[in-house]
Amino acid sequence: MTLAVSGTLMQTPAPDRLVVIDAVVEVDRAGTIAAVHDRASVAGRHALDAATERVDLDPGTFLMPGLVDLHIHAPQWPQLGTGLDLPLERWLFDYTFPLEARYVDTAFATTVWDDLVPSLLSMGTTTAVYYSSNHLEATTALAQACARHGQRALVGRVAMDHPEGTPEWYRDATATEGVEASAASIEAVAALGSPLVEPIITPRFTPACTGALLEGLGELAAATSVRVQTHCAESDWHCGYALDRFGAGDPAVLDRFGLMRPHTVLAHSDHLTADEMTLVAGRGAGVAHCPLSNAYFANAVFGARRALGAGVGVGLGSDIAGGARPGLLGVCQDAVTVSRMLEDGVDPSLGPSERGVPKSRIDTVTAFWLATAGGAAVLDLPVGLIEPGRQFDAIAVRADRPGGAIRLWDDIDDEARAFEKLVRLATADDISHVWVNGLCR
Ligand SMILES: [Zn+2]
Repeated sequence: MTLAVSGTLMQTPAPDRLVVIDAVVEVDRAGTIAAVHDRASVAGRHALDAATERVDLDPGTFLMPGLVDLHIHAPQWPQLGTGLDLPLERWLFDYTFPLEARYVDTAFATTVWDDLVPSLLSMGTTTAVYYSSNHLEATTALAQACARHGQRALVGRVAMDHPEGTPEWYRDATATEGVEASAASIEAVAALGSPLVEPIITPRFTPACTGALLEGLGELAAATSVRVQTHCAESDWHCGYALDRFGAGDPAVLDRFGLMRPHTVLAHSDHLTADEMTLVAGRGAGVAHCPLSNAYFANAVFGARRALGAGVGVGLGSDIAGGARPGLLGVCQDAVTVSRMLEDGVDPSLGPSERGVPKSRIDTVTAFWLATAGGAAVLDLPVGLIEPGRQFDAIAVRADRPGGAIRLWDDIDDEARAFEKLVRLATADDISHVWVNGLCR
């Protein structure tokens, strides 16, 4: 089966570049984009006529790349929207670890996964990077759910063994057991044989892991070339903990244990110094910028503009459930908003010149690039842009839905304004189509 989709394509090939074309996208049997034609061209008309499946988007419905969410805690889905009153270290013990421990029950886990995955797909999340729980079986079930519902995903069993950073009822009994279970999870996810789902090595974060576990997982990453995800330099407490225990900053600790690798996903990373940004960029790792959860747990705003300037790969993360907004279009708006607060500052008792961090703002185009091509580059996955050679992961967003907020006015809204409205205002109800690997979900 081949697919051809015609419509107005909006995408961001660079952080400061919006491209809008009237397009016909030609997709081959493997879900790979074979060509992007001008709709008025002979080749475009031919592609539409030749395809076995043809989708002509209505005027006012816009084709965009699918969204790449770099940081999701799948087992926290049932607590989304609640429990944001405590600092991170207490939030984990009081709310989050008790919930995550329930995933020892794989039937319960599967019930949650079968709600989470299609829900996120309907919001346009075509690629998801998941922390699962500490359980091997629940993690395999999450990978199966992604394959079943057709979501591209990286799925990681959470490794955590530190007797102070984790409760005794929810941890790996020893570092060796943690490494062995992580290796078994890699094999179990790979054994599914899904073209969409891959494993990812997942040390929870340095405060929850002994040096022996971090070392073993670094060796596992080197031996398997499987990607790594973890939290990095998230909060004052997290950074202080790394310094106390290891005598070094959190990024240096991860690097020491071989976890700062190409395409390692570092969630948050708000507190990176200039030297640490150089380290992250040099290793080819990238940051999952989680603007909303950072407001609750990170004690700071991540300097996305500064990181991009330092050559650090950056994408966006919802950080379910530390971030109470699951759809990544909304997270784009959060990223723009917090960058403006960082630039201007927030304490009115300070003068304007000492209140903020100049040149921190990002705009909607940059935020959407983070949510698509930027995130794809962090992962080194061939998605995030509609161009030949990449996989067709895409969404269609409609304007002018009765009851919706997106209104386009003929003599007021040019293409750039239309794009801004779509990114800022679209909800799941405005997303009419979601394709992953060329298949409509
Ligand atoms: Zn997280």
